[in-house]
Amino acid sequence: RAKAEGGSVAHGFEAAMDSWARSRRRRETDLHEAFARGELALAYQPVLGVRSRAILGFEALLRWQHSVEGAIPPSDFVPLAEETGLIVPIGAWVLRQACAEASLWADPIRVAVNLSPVQFRDPGLVATVREALALSGLAPQRLELEVTESVLLAASEANVATLHALRQLGVRIAMDDFGTGYCSLSYLQRFPFDTIKIDRSFVNRLGDDPHSTAIVRAVIGLGASLGIVTVAEGVETEAQFAQLRAEGCGEVQGYLFGRPAPAAEARRLIRREPDLAA
Ligand code: C2E
Ligand code: MG
Ligand code: MG
Ligand code: MG
Repeated sequence: RAKAEGGSVAHGFEAAMDSWARSRRRRETDLHEAFARGELALAYQPVLGVRSRAILGFEALLRWQHSVEGAIPPSDFVPLAEETGLIVPIGAWVLRQACAEASLWADPIRVAVNLSPVQFRDPGLVATVREALALSGLAPQRLELEVTESVLLAASEANVATLHALRQLGVRIAMDDFGTGYCSLSYLQRFPFDTIKIDRSFVNRLGDDPHSTAIVRAVIGLGASLGIVTVAEGVETEAQFAQLRAEGCGEVQGYLFGRPAPAAEARRLIRREPDLAA
């Protein structure tokens, strides 16, 4: 009896693996077709100056408008795109699309684009960025590339070299999700970032949790002494904003100021800006 049960458990496991593999393959094909059919889109979330409360830029965030499932968030399909290598052509499209859109915005409003570590394995990455700038006519200093700490993990001399080559194009380089990595501080020594984006998990607990508050304060101080712009991600309340301002944080991004929205909405926000309307 035990044996039979064991057998059926193993069989159940195989069946589960099989159906998992099938559904993964289906999703992979789906994503491929969605990309080809133009079902991927970018949403834009404003980044504001803390003192001025003016829009300084937008972060471009990938969305999949699935015909059946509706909007699929990047956490559900970017990992798949990374595993299959599809993130390389998708990422190139994101760069072209974001630069073209930003070229329509009032100067000097910037656009930030997320780069996957997998894109760093593509020898064409620097050329892809250069082409996106050339095609759109966007001034390089208006493009910011966001990378996570995983790009700088051990044995990534090649990635550091690529970051320098990207910087040579005149674009800005940001470290995203700062503080969530394994050894955040050491990465600041490996590459001179223009911007540090303080992860939402710290901003979230500002005020409630003394440790998060201390960490945010330390990162802002570190940015100030290194001449690096600090951006707080995921600002949701006025209390968080007030505290970030008191600590001297440079820029903010979060639902309090605007959710990621279609390009047309970003354009409307820019037109409403008093200083830029002229
Ligand atoms: P990220 O680069 O750290 O982007 C910020 C995420 O925080 C976005 O999630 C944004 O919608 C969310 N967010 C912003 N403000 C708030 C807030 O006030 N509260 C809360 N709860 N969330 C907020 P999203 O759009 O789901 O993107 C998730 C991640 O997917 C991004 O994290 C980024 O790592 C990745 N991603 C997005 N677009 C791309 C892309 O084009 N290429 C690559 N490689 N990755 C992308
Ligand atoms: Mg980002
Ligand atoms: Mg982030
Ligand atoms: Mg993130």
